[in-house]
Amino acid sequence: MYLDDWIRSSWAIIYPEVCQICNERRANPDDGYVCENCISKITFINKSICDQCGNTFEGNLTECFNCSDCTFGRPHYKHARSPCTLEGPLQTLIHRNKYTQSQWMEPLFGTLIKNALSKYRSTFSVEIVLAVPLYPAKQRERGYNQSTWLAKIAAKELGAEFRGNILKRVKPTETQTRMSRRDRKENMKGAFKICTGSNLANKRLLLVDDVITTGATIDACAKVLMEAGAESVCALTLARGISRPFLTCELPF
Ligand SMILES: [Zn+2]
Ligand SMILES: [Zn+2]
Repeated sequence: MYLDDWIRSSWAIIYPEVCQICNERRANPDDGYVCENCISKITFINKSICDQCGNTFEGNLTECFNCSDCTFGRPHYKHARSPCTLEGPLQTLIHRNKYTQSQWMEPLFGTLIKNALSKYRSTFSVEIVLAVPLYPAKQRERGYNQSTWLAKIAAKELGAEFRGNILKRVKPTETQTRMSRRDRKENMKGAFKICTGSNLANKRLLLVDDVITTGATIDACAKVLMEAGAESVCALTLARGISRPFLTCELPF
């Protein structure tokens, strides 16, 4: 029996096989304790997207397109992609994973990441996968970085190397939930550094995090990775925040 199986067996003792979102329908550990009905309420991104930041747009864009934020803001990452939007059951699950250290939903997160990679594998084309790190004090407080778990799943799925010793967070940044795009960018300035001894020359990297909103965090990471000689940095997040980016990205016509 693998470690994962042991952990799931212990969850089965703690949690009855009931959906942890609606507390009504039957759900099992392999589905992350979320029933089919609640899973059907997760919003998948199937719209036209900006080729760089991955933001969604109404309409059917047949040609490769970059939004005005990417055209003028020039992010340091090549492509950012997310399978779902941050709303409904997925928002609840990510919040509980982040702030209550609950891990029972991880099988569902794993499925979402694997499905996303089956769609975006060729977009990424990476050799090394890494997670957006937490500030050390926050990591100690939470005891766990949810993005590391997602990054390891992605690395395994891509047949790439996972490395947890490339990036470090050197500034205790404030929570960005209520910040504007400009304030988020300022908040993230100087937040990340490369660990000594990381040889990134000409490496193609994939950064993994749970959520992307304006992309300020991902971009701050990508900036130092590119400055350290990486060939390219792509990003994969479980979900995409939907509040502000829709308002700031405009179609070029
Ligand atoms: Zn349910
Ligand atoms: Zn864009």
